[in-house]
Amino acid sequence: MSTLDPSQGDPGSLTDHNLSRRSRTIVMKFGGTSVGDLDRIRNVAQKIKMEHERGNRVAVVVSAMAGVTNQMVKYCHDLNPMPVLEEYDAVVATGEQVTSGLVAIALNGLGLRARSFQGWQVPLVTDDSHGKAAIESVDGQAILSCLEAGIIPVIAGFQGVDRAGRIATLGRGGSDTSAVAFAAAIDADQCDIYTDVDGVYTTDPRIVTKAKKLDRITYEEMLELASVGAKVLQTRSVALAMREKVRVRVLSSFDQTDDQSGTIVVDEDEGMEKELVAGIAYSRDEAKISLRNVPDRPGVAAAIFGGLAGNGVNVDMIVQSIGVDQTTNMTFTVSKGDERRARQILDELREEIPYGELATSHDVVKISVVGVGMRSNTGVAATMFRTLAERGINVQVISTSEIKISVLIDAEYTELAMRALHTAYGLDAGKEDYS
Ligand code: ADP
Ligand code: ASP
Ligand code: MG
Repeated sequence: MSTLDPSQGDPGSLTDHNLSRRSRTIVMKFGGTSVGDLDRIRNVAQKIKMEHERGNRVAVVVSAMAGVTNQMVKYCHDLNPMPVLEEYDAVVATGEQVTSGLVAIALNGLGLRARSFQGWQVPLVTDDSHGKAAIESVDGQAILSCLEAGIIPVIAGFQGVDRAGRIATLGRGGSDTSAVAFAAAIDADQCDIYTDVDGVYTTDPRIVTKAKKLDRITYEEMLELASVGAKVLQTRSVALAMREKVRVRVLSSFDQTDDQSGTIVVDEDEGMEKELVAGIAYSRDEAKISLRNVPDRPGVAAAIFGGLAGNGVNVDMIVQSIGVDQTTNMTFTVSKGDERRARQILDELREEIPYGELATSHDVVKISVVGVGMRSNTGVAATMFRTLAERGINVQVISTSEIKISVLIDAEYTELAMRALHTAYGLDAGKEDYS
């Protein structure tokens, strides 16, 4: 039967149609603080129940209880500073196993049908780079079957299984990426990331109290901000959401009001006003390495940075001074976790490239300003350097991309620099109230 007038159609199918239009599929992800103790787990279960009672199909993704993953990492490193990574993953993935079960139990207590899933049970399949494995595939079938049966799947984030059947983890903060990957696999309408702040701010609200909540941010800006230290979303989760077109929203699990909007991550063309600077981020995870009196001849940079990259060490910022007397100085940054390996590699290179002194420093922080508006506006860098100079803060290394400028400065000036830059770019909350 085919009819264009619903009033003459089969009332049954009309009802089904309306129901399916109302019922949305939502992934709800809860971070470590949100499931940090049993009361918080009860609170999370209530939020899931509310979403379920709105008629939505809900898949839940959970992190480990706050502090648990750190404790597991410490256990491994106390036994061996360089543990076998397959075993490291077997240990650190346990935190999420606990919370997936606990949240399912809490949901059962509210009269809802729920079941836990570990990464391997979905399965979420990864490559074999243990400790920060990349997702290769996610089979959404088991989750979808659960949803069809009216059961709420509660999935352990952060973990999956490699092709050899070993448990693998997705890198610190990886449950965000799990959530987005599951949302893509089940074609969810939305991926809600519940955390301990009520959205994405112009900068970390714990450092700059005048930080302003953003209603919307572009994938590109969020990607850049995450990659330079704004840990509110794991960088990979944003890249995945951008590629798979997953609608991501960041919101608070502690907000008891029903109408919280959080921050939505959107495409650039979704009617966004192009702010010059969308946000400022900092990263303390930087080690500065300086090589002095490096021979100034072709092929030297290739040997040094090729050697580091070939051994899995990611170099971030680089500066090389003008050569004098056939030698030059090179300064660059790596993450603190890679420093030991970087020094080892550079020691081994010394025969091939006879450089002078090798010095490292941890007392540095990288501050970055990000905004798509930078593409069409000049002056962002000048404002940054002037603002820092006025406070007597020395810039040690600079790096730029199309929508970002980063500087490396002395760590003791982190708060001062962040607050000064936040004001200088007109980002302070309440500013518009006085204009
Ligand atoms: P979760 O455990 O829920 O995954 P995280 O600790 O990983 O939470 O991320 C939330 C934290 O990110 C916030 O508490 C905040 O301090 C920090 N953060 C850093 N930059 C920002 C930003 N621009 N906006 C919001 N939060 C930020
Ligand atoms: N529990 C993991 C971590 O602490 C993953 C996450 O929280 O996203 O890194
Ligand atoms: Mg996180």
